[in-house]
Parts: sequence; C-alpha cells; structure tokens
Amino acid sequence: MAYTYDPQNIFAKILRGEIPNKTVLETEHTLAFHDIYPQAPVHVLVIPKGPYVTYDHFCAEASDAEIVDYARTVARVCDMLGVAEDGWRLISNAGANAIQEVPHLHVHILGGRNLGRMLQPA
Ligand code: AMP
Repeated sequence: MAYTYDPQNIFAKILRGEIPNKTVLETEHTLAFHDIYPQAPVHVLVIPKGPYVTYDHFCAEASDAEIVDYARTVARVCDMLGVAEDGWRLISNAGANAIQEVPHLHVHILGGRNLGRMLQPA
C-alpha cells in the first residue's frame, strides 16, 4: 500500500501552529487535543507529529520511538482524564469506508458516558 500525505490537511495546520487547538498533552512525537465537536464528555484526539495518513500507515512506517511515544501518550491522556475506571473507547477511522474526514492519523479517545454498542447495523 502506498500512502499519500496531504500537508494541507487541518491537523497538519494545527501541528504547524497555523490554527489553534486545545492541547491536553504534547510530547516529542505526539499531540493530544480536544475534538472541536465533542461527541462525549471526554473526546480527545491523539495525533503523531509525523506525516502519517492512517493507523496502518503509521504502524508500518513510523519509527519505534514514534510508536512508543504515541502509545504512551494515549495511556497518559486516559490517566489525565480519568476514563479508565468507568471505561472508554478508542476509534481510528481510516479511508472511505470508515468516513475518515481528516487524512492525518488520529485516534479518538471517548469516555465520560455510556457509549452504546460499537457499531450500528448497516
Ligand atoms: P474523522 O472522521 O475520524 O476523520 O474525525 C475527524 C475529527 O476531527 C472530527 O471528530 C472533528 O470534529 C475533528 N476536528 C476537525 N477539525 C478540528 C479542529 N480544528 N480541532 C479539533 N478537532 C477537529
């Protein structure tokens, strides 16, 4: 699979400081910030700073340091926001079938309420 990264996507602009964000946590390789249209009391996006389109792209091509930093940041955000005890959900939409809106890898961390079942019937 060949991945093409569009540097004009909105999260690339956030990373370049061209548009603001509500940062939860920033590390060497990763940025976590609040979703602008939260769908739960906790709705945080975690993105790598590198130019990766999807989760599979990131896992295939990112360095070990980037991957470890990303995974640890997810854990730190869950701890900071206190979602682990009552439960939370991690979602990463990739490509057309998942209706990925922003073509820069992001995982959604959702929590703070009962989230219902994972998928609705098609
Ligand atoms: P997805 O459909 O998985 O690509 O989700 C993209 C997410 O990005 C949506 O939940 C949007 O609300 C969110 N989003 C779009 N623009 C911004 C922004 N400027 N700051 C924070 N979140 C954003």
